[in-house]
Amino acid sequence: MIDTYRTKGLRKKLVETIRGKGIKDEAVLNAILTVPRHLFMDSSFLEFAYEDKPFPIGSGQTISQPYTVAFQTELLKVKKGDKILEVGTGSGYQASILIEMGAKVYTIERQRKLYLKTKELLQKLNYNPKKFAFGDGYKGLPAYAPFDKVIVTAGAPFVPQPLLEQLKPGGILVIPVGEDVQNMKRIIKMNDTKFIEEDHGLFRFVPLLNNKAED
Ligand code: SAH
Repeated sequence: MIDTYRTKGLRKKLVETIRGKGIKDEAVLNAILTVPRHLFMDSSFLEFAYEDKPFPIGSGQTISQPYTVAFQTELLKVKKGDKILEVGTGSGYQASILIEMGAKVYTIERQRKLYLKTKELLQKLNYNPKKFAFGDGYKGLPAYAPFDKVIVTAGAPFVPQPLLEQLKPGGILVIPVGEDVQNMKRIIKMNDTKFIEEDHGLFRFVPLLNNKAED
């Protein structure tokens, strides 16, 4: 678990790449600069950790492209102390970015192998979510609701109703919606019946699987 001058230098370059692609939120850029992404990937791929690309993390899943992580995080308008639900923990990188920014993170993963591996890693790195749940993200985490923000990091065929219900009034949901390619949607909950929906361009995610959690 080491972070060297070399990996720190590579992160600085990565931040400049992402800034060049249009990310402006300094708190987001600072979190990318701080969180050692290479530790969230299998060691044989270390040299790729600071390219702006997604990467396989085992169990058929990927760690999202850094630009995509930054883009979704910017859309969330994260404030210190925000209570945020993440659906699709995967490697734990996005969760760590949110924790680094001072959010209280609740995260949920449906693949047990990945869940166990990431749980151990986050403890080692001392990035501690308030709750790391094994289960089906379509249902959200009703026992811990309501949330200031919800972020979904897998492609959803539709917007799951429980995620809208578990938002506070004024809360924000960022979710890529679509089958083969996804439209990045930001949905702002004005009150229980009024939502404002914005489209923020096309992305490609692994699917948010619509069945119960998997061993
Ligand atoms: N946020 C992750 C990216 C993960 S890729 C990171 O920073 O690395 C998407 C993840 O969503 C995968 O780990 C996948 O197993 C998980 N996933 C897919 N369907 C899900 C569901 N219904 N509930 C919870 N997690 C789900």
